[in-house]
Amino acid sequence: MAKKIKMKTPLVEMDGDEMTRILWKWIKEILLEPYVDLNCEYYDLGLKNRNETNDQVTFDSAEATKKYGVAVKCATITPNAARMPEYNLKEMWKSPNGTIRAILDGTVFRTPIIVKGISPYIPTWTKPITIARHAYGDVYKNTEIQVNKDSKAELVVTDKEGNETRELIYDFSDSDGIVQGIHNKNESIAGFARACLNYGLDLKQDVWFATKDTISKKYDHRFKDIFQEIYDKEYKERYEAAGIEYFYTLIDDAVARVIRSNGGYIWACKNYDGDVMSDMVSTAYGSLAMMTSVLVSPDGIYEYEAAHGTVQRHYYKYLKGEETSTNSVATIFAWSGALRKRGELDETPDLVDFANKLEQATIQTIEDGVMTGDLYLLSSLENKTKVDSKTFLKEIGKRLDTLVNS
Ligand code: NAP
Ligand code: MG
Repeated sequence: MAKKIKMKTPLVEMDGDEMTRILWKWIKEILLEPYVDLNCEYYDLGLKNRNETNDQVTFDSAEATKKYGVAVKCATITPNAARMPEYNLKEMWKSPNGTIRAILDGTVFRTPIIVKGISPYIPTWTKPITIARHAYGDVYKNTEIQVNKDSKAELVVTDKEGNETRELIYDFSDSDGIVQGIHNKNESIAGFARACLNYGLDLKQDVWFATKDTISKKYDHRFKDIFQEIYDKEYKERYEAAGIEYFYTLIDDAVARVIRSNGGYIWACKNYDGDVMSDMVSTAYGSLAMMTSVLVSPDGIYEYEAAHGTVQRHYYKYLKGEETSTNSVATIFAWSGALRKRGELDETPDLVDFANKLEQATIQTIEDGVMTGDLYLLSSLENKTKVDSKTFLKEIGKRLDTLVNS
């Protein structure tokens, strides 16, 4: 048995809820603790503890992430009415992901994990497409009014001296109708651009960005210009040195190109495009349980997690003592992503190497035909076996052992 790998700087560990909390513990026991001397600063974001601490633990965990630079997070319950009596909640606490995202001011990148036997619906997508969604403004912070016939709708901006700029939106003399006001901030767009361009450098992948600037000559055009200015000033040289490119096109052209592509790039999307396209892309790759997610702040702070939730239905089966076959791949990749980033920042190649081997062992297990129920239904492999949640982790452990000790 090789010596355990040491970690220089602590990794922020955010524990969570339900089935993913069970998987979390097993992943640590079976796949991490035997090989790595884990140096984690632990925050329990399970709903019980969020309730006991009046959600302070969520804020503390985000502050710790700012301090150390890397975090790994388990899926957590976002309370709704049904959770109030279930957990005897003092309040309907906000989504921890929302709170953390607001504090870190980050962009979320979602990437599918590709394995042999699970084919994307688009057969040419042999490499992952990472979607980055701008998480501020546009239609998500809109103002809407229903308008009666014989009204006139105008856009009015008042500056600090009280001067008004007015533009007619529509004269509703012919019909009832609707109007909507939306906004974005240059600062937020710039933060989004930097997060995407940094992530491109990290992954050594091209960055695509698209809007409808031919129609929206001021609003969408501003997005295009800000991206281009930042790219030219701050990134062009590094992109050329890395042999990657920043590519801008119209959103409809982007959609057509994405479908024809082989993948292997980052697709930066405005808020609404990202909302819609991320569901399309993740479904097309096969399974939500194979989708990783990382929140990256413009100043280079990383928080890794699985894109799926707490898998509540499986947890209730688990509580009844029934067998579960829950897919832990995205949660394992959250750990490997965080450990790799920690290793890169600390310049500890052992840790980076371990993270790579953990991913390799996980993929190898599925490609050997050993998988959880969700993948069993999708896999085209001839010899495949469905295993329970814990057996799946033990099978990965066997392969990891071989990789680490070879
Ligand atoms: P979910 O936990 O993602 O699960 C929805 C369904 O997808 C499951 O019932 C299961 O289908 C399948 N599934 C998802 N992940 C799977 C995995 N790892 N292995 C196998 N199957 C998987 O979404 P939800 O049921 O809508 O939400 C449950 C809780 O998670 C909610 O309280 C929600 O607030 C929270 N949530 C948290 C996050 C986060 O922390 N990032 C994200 C989303 C939701 P079958 O039941 O058909 O097997
Ligand atoms: Mg959506």
